[in-house]
Amino acid sequence: MKAAQQILHDVFGYSAFRPGQEEIITLLTSGKNLLAVMPTGAGKSICYQIPAVMADRLTIVVSPLLALIDDQVAALRTNGVEVACIHSGLSREQNIVEWQRVKSGAKLLYLSPERLMTERMLTALAGLQPAMFVVDEAHCISKWGASFRPDYENLSRLPDLFPGSVIAGFTATADKATRNDIAAKLFRGRGRIIVHGFDRPNLRLTVASKANWKSQMIGFLEDKTGQAGIVYCLSRKFTDEVAIYLREQGLNAIPYHAGQSAEQRKINQDRFMSEDAVVMVATIAFGMGIDKPDIRYVCHLNLPGSMEAYYQEIGRAGRDGASAETLLLHSLSDMGLRRQFIANEGDEAHRRREHHRLDALLAYCEAGECRRVTLLAYFDEASGPCGNCDNCLSPPIVVDGTARAQALLSSIQQTGQLFGAGHVIDIVRGVETQKVLERRHQNLATFGTGKQWPKEEWLIFVRQLVAAGFLSVNIQKYGGLELSERGRALLAGEASFSYREGSKTRPERKVAKKKSEQAVRPNDVSLLSQLKILRLGLARARNVPAYVVFPDSTLIEMARARPTTIDDMSGINGIGPKKLKEFGPTFLLAIAEAVPMAE
Ligand code: ADP
Ligand code: ZN
Repeated sequence: MKAAQQILHDVFGYSAFRPGQEEIITLLTSGKNLLAVMPTGAGKSICYQIPAVMADRLTIVVSPLLALIDDQVAALRTNGVEVACIHSGLSREQNIVEWQRVKSGAKLLYLSPERLMTERMLTALAGLQPAMFVVDEAHCISKWGASFRPDYENLSRLPDLFPGSVIAGFTATADKATRNDIAAKLFRGRGRIIVHGFDRPNLRLTVASKANWKSQMIGFLEDKTGQAGIVYCLSRKFTDEVAIYLREQGLNAIPYHAGQSAEQRKINQDRFMSEDAVVMVATIAFGMGIDKPDIRYVCHLNLPGSMEAYYQEIGRAGRDGASAETLLLHSLSDMGLRRQFIANEGDEAHRRREHHRLDALLAYCEAGECRRVTLLAYFDEASGPCGNCDNCLSPPIVVDGTARAQALLSSIQQTGQLFGAGHVIDIVRGVETQKVLERRHQNLATFGTGKQWPKEEWLIFVRQLVAAGFLSVNIQKYGGLELSERGRALLAGEASFSYREGSKTRPERKVAKKKSEQAVRPNDVSLLSQLKILRLGLARARNVPAYVVFPDSTLIEMARARPTTIDDMSGINGIGPKKLKEFGPTFLLAIAEAVPMAE
């Protein structure tokens, strides 16, 4: 593997492989097909880029998003790798230039799936006999997966069309059924499936029920000034509202959603990629293909659609391996909305699968044990308590709630299982609303038996009963609560129920941030911000995202080590020869001009 190691160092400027990279590179260079399932940020790109550089024939990379293609191509070119890309975002003339690059020996050609599968392109490629086809975001080929794309389906013709080429799929999200389906489609099962741990230990996981999203969000953002992050919202309208609110609070927040024009979205995305400390407030229209490595937090103000979606969305934080934080706020009404979405899509089997995915997410939200254990268990990975989630850092207080639940379940049953949480809670809290009086619900034996708990606490309690399967929410009946079999057993005294107290107000024990090797001394902070400004200028001039010039981790190391010669500079992780030549002197100058470090 000397050659691969050499390329890692000489071309990409990295000193060591990350877990899993070397194994995949070895398999690919020895001509094996494979599907690699690796978490976001694990460093998938290098796994195929290094074999591509080593090969003497072309490697085709299929990627679903033009923005992602452009960034990858820019990053490779900055490292001095010959690469071409052809897609609909380029003019005819530009695409002709790109094809010339292929003809004159580019190592990689990036294509969108629909471009690749045109007869014209296939014929042209047949003449070139590509060494390898790489399918990025490979889960898009499977209907079992979380985001099937019809234009990926055609890719299953590849093994028949190019029997002499290696085929490799990469994805960050695929459960077992999906993995097998992808392997069958991409290479008829003739290849390896390599699953690399889903754990992202640098992500702190926090989940809370939504009470006052504004103060919860501001509390979360408090210690994050100067950092880039994403706030996810469900609707376009809410996205705009949140962005406006954050700007009023003095944050550099910009909205992003499908209601904006393509140009506006591009401008906003470019700002997020190149400026420092932007809060992107976005619907899930934003994210796929965002490979900014230094996103420091992800905050969900609404419930994601599934465990997979949640995992993928939080996974956009901390790709550089440095610590990052996530917060998910969930509520009963979000859950109802999600159920409604599912009710309107696909066939029966699809709906059942999606409901199951959502159930898993709800159970995760209500889990009393380590979040990471719950999350990883969903992806069939066993693990122990992580010490970096809300439940590990301040374990919830568990209280017996059997009697309290029985009062609630009885109220639901007595009123014909027709009403939503709001009305039922009014009954147990003894509130004489018009709705209560009209239906004479004040005469129920359970009326007012749960006065001591405020409405918000009742809502949390109900949600925990739903998540634990004692109650279900009937979407067809406008969110009416119904007793499940378990719920009837609980009411009959044949089961018990424990709940987590006050998860809303549970004090976050402020723990000292893990002292990472990346910590920056105060003296280096001002130099670091100067280096970032310099980087921004260089990136703008080249029309590439800032991290393509240097990732944050490289700048941090630079600010700490303060190299004084090109030779010193070359020892910093992330600076290959091409970048050393292009940017080294400029950065050396900036470091030399900076105020000297006080010892
Ligand atoms: P993925 O596609 O798996 O989400 P990327 O390929 O975008 O991840 O890599 C994430 C980040 O890690 C990138 O900035 C990449 O340059 C960096 N990286 C990859 N491999 C290494 C390595 N061996 N050493 C240091 N950094 C690496
Ligand atoms: Zn934990």
